[in-house]
Amino acid sequence: MMAKVKESPGKSKRPLIVMKFGGTSVGSAERMQGVAEILREHTRHADVVVVVSAMGGATNMLIRAATQASEGTEEPWKGSRQELARRHREVADQLLSAAEQASVLPRLAEQVKHFEDLCSGFTLLREITPRGMDTLSSLGEVMSATLVAAILRSSGLKSEAVDAIECIVTDDNFGNAGPLFEETGVKTQERLLPLLKRGVIPVVTGFRGATREGVCTTLGRGGSDFSATILGAALDADEVWIWTDVDGVMTADPRLVPEARILPEVSYREAIELSYFGAKVLHPKTIQPVMQKKIPVWIKNSFNPSCPGTKIVHAAKNGQSGIKAITSVKDAVLITMSGRNAISFPQLAARVFNCLYLEEVSTLMVTQSSADNVLCFAIHQADLPRVKAELEKVFELEMLHDYVGVLEVMPKVAIVVTVGENMKGTPGISGRAFGALGRKGINIIAMAQGSSELSISFAVRSADMKDAVKSVHEEFHL
Ligand code: ASP
Ligand code: MG
Repeated sequence: MMAKVKESPGKSKRPLIVMKFGGTSVGSAERMQGVAEILREHTRHADVVVVVSAMGGATNMLIRAATQASEGTEEPWKGSRQELARRHREVADQLLSAAEQASVLPRLAEQVKHFEDLCSGFTLLREITPRGMDTLSSLGEVMSATLVAAILRSSGLKSEAVDAIECIVTDDNFGNAGPLFEETGVKTQERLLPLLKRGVIPVVTGFRGATREGVCTTLGRGGSDFSATILGAALDADEVWIWTDVDGVMTADPRLVPEARILPEVSYREAIELSYFGAKVLHPKTIQPVMQKKIPVWIKNSFNPSCPGTKIVHAAKNGQSGIKAITSVKDAVLITMSGRNAISFPQLAARVFNCLYLEEVSTLMVTQSSADNVLCFAIHQADLPRVKAELEKVFELEMLHDYVGVLEVMPKVAIVVTVGENMKGTPGISGRAFGALGRKGINIIAMAQGSSELSISFAVRSADMKDAVKSVHEEFHL
């Protein structure tokens, strides 16, 4: 059994924290300098494993370059090559000591060469292979990890860049790979614990991992948060800190509600709910690894490090009235289908949801109503064409013979979702929300609440969304 860092002699009680810095937090020399300052401060009292994203915009550029290469034209990706080299070089020039420059510039040049080789391959093949794409699209993380570790060394800290392919073991679902936790735990501990023991700060590439055979994979767009929680769970860390460019999780989108404020604490389930319905907290799958081990996650602002941020925990202290935050999805459509008296509701629902399943579409809200076997559900506007085509195909005969009511689509709908674990068992909450909307003259088109009472969803016209969010926010004094 491997000794845990936090229990190792001489370092007793030093907490272990995984800190992830997103693309904007490592977006320039100035920002990377900020990261070094944050780490200088926190490594005084904690062992820290760093996870970095690519410099802001780099991943998009890499993916674009790959696509252009596969179209057979060299000019555009050669431009990206220059850009990639220039951005990283610029940071190295500004922040690295002469000794670090001597060792790191050739490594960055090698990484750019790797980009070039991959793009040449795509140009030649007129095709992008999924493996090639994952290796290429996560090169930005390799470069930023190389740079950040070198910056830390230049500022007198001990640090080493670590490629996550040495730690995170995944399945071979390229582009959106899933972690294999047990193997990841073993490899991560083997690779990182000795570094921590020697007082070295590991700077691990976000976003990427590798199959059992060692082939590079990626964890899906925005996957560096996931990298951080996977490593946090693998190391049994005390906390995971996600450094981003907002002050924390808010009671509502501040663009809709200027009075929105930061929530000091939310539960894992509330965070998942908020993310599912559009609030950019953390991708729901990101929370799974830490949720099982009850490891708290902090959302913090690297542009404003003195702000405490939001703590995501197993059981949040929920002082207030029940509703904790409001989120909304703007571009939704409501689809209504009726089984008439010809087919039963379960049969209708089974066939409709099978279509959604086949098209890999998720629903935002579902309701059943009336004796006429009416099923109503909301999806993202962008998914409509695929879903409509599939439903029309599957119900072609019934629609022809008028057994199943034509599918009705109501466009320009917004789903407003109130979230809070404390709503459970508290009567009168939906009444107050209804009242607030009613007084503003806002019509509720459909609504849903699950028995977990974690959230209540309302469908309203898109044009009413802002007022709906504002009035509920006001009603509950959020
Ligand atoms: N750089 C990757 C992306 O942009 C991963 C991340 O930033 O989390 O998707
Ligand atoms: Mg990013």
